[in-house]
Amino acid sequence: MKFLDLHAQYLSIRKDIDRAIQQTLESSEFIMGKSVFELEKKIASYCGVRYGISLNSGTDALYLALRALNLKVSDEVIVPAFTFFATAEVVALAGATPVFADITPGSFTIDPVSVEKKITKKTRAIMPVHLYGELADMRALMGLSRAHNIPIIEDAAQALGASLNGEKACSFGSMGCISFFPSKNLGAYGDGGMLVTNDERVATFARMWRVHGSEQKYNNIFIGDSSRLDNIQAAILLAKFPHLDTWNAKRAEKAALYNSLLDNRRYGLPIPTPASRHIYHQYTIRVRNGRDRMKEALANANIPTMVYYPTPLHLQKAFTHLGYHRGDLPESERACTEVLSLPIYPELADDDIRHVVEVLNSLPQ
Ligand SMILES: *Cc1c(COP(=O)(O)O)cnc(C)c1O
Repeated sequence: MKFLDLHAQYLSIRKDIDRAIQQTLESSEFIMGKSVFELEKKIASYCGVRYGISLNSGTDALYLALRALNLKVSDEVIVPAFTFFATAEVVALAGATPVFADITPGSFTIDPVSVEKKITKKTRAIMPVHLYGELADMRALMGLSRAHNIPIIEDAAQALGASLNGEKACSFGSMGCISFFPSKNLGAYGDGGMLVTNDERVATFARMWRVHGSEQKYNNIFIGDSSRLDNIQAAILLAKFPHLDTWNAKRAEKAALYNSLLDNRRYGLPIPTPASRHIYHQYTIRVRNGRDRMKEALANANIPTMVYYPTPLHLQKAFTHLGYHRGDLPESERACTEVLSLPIYPELADDDIRHVVEVLNSLPQ
């Protein structure tokens, strides 16, 4: 069994992918071509926002969202401690200070109560992460955003297509950040990302930044960088995009099967609220005792699992200078010892899920 089978997905859409690559080669238009702009339009409209600016990676999308805020060293950006490193890394890269908030015990996303406690006069942004494909508590977070006049940047790297009360990820905050890393629900065959926003000023800034701060070639207005999604990746993503909703729905079906078979007294199961459309980038359970032992036993039975993430960001070596200690963010720390992600992808056979559950249920408590 595989943890993720990108080859199975390729086989299911091989003709379209091969044609997309072939057409790009024939056009020999590799950078900033038609496919790139078509993809930007489609993704922005899918998210329900006006502008999409494709970039090299999801990390660059997060970084640019912050750069658009013109942060100073003393400025603070609130991020969850339980997420992929990039979410906090970009705050430091953009020249400001990440401030870590805890997650809620019932989900894996940032706790609005913890966020409120961390708001100071220096807070310039709040960055919720829609971890594993489920939206953070955007109702409460948008309330805080309005009350304190602090913009929200959504890290939707794992959540393209997820929604809450019918509203899509990236449509709540002032900016949304998407990743097309190959393993994401809409993955390229290389790196890629997109910043989406309704703010024309931000869109213009990002479009110029990715081409060295220029509007027209060789007329550089500010210091930017080189960060573009190339045409081959855009063409591949355009070929995959029509399948995204079906793939996300299939993941949700697989998750529902896991949820129905796993013993919810023994494991914490990811059961979404009815208002939430979870797209199960990961299917992650909580194992309250002996997670690592269980992971090893599953590996011995040829069932690959992953721990996303083993270390909370406030305890990462790279952030020791911020002075956090163990015990500061207990829910994030606890999640790191309990989480176990099981195989999930649209092509995964239901019998494989049954097999995983059988093995899990047969392990000693
Ligand atoms: C994947 C991911 C990123 C970074 O995206 P890249 O395209 O790999 O740079 C950022 N945040 C989260 C939560 C992610 O899962």
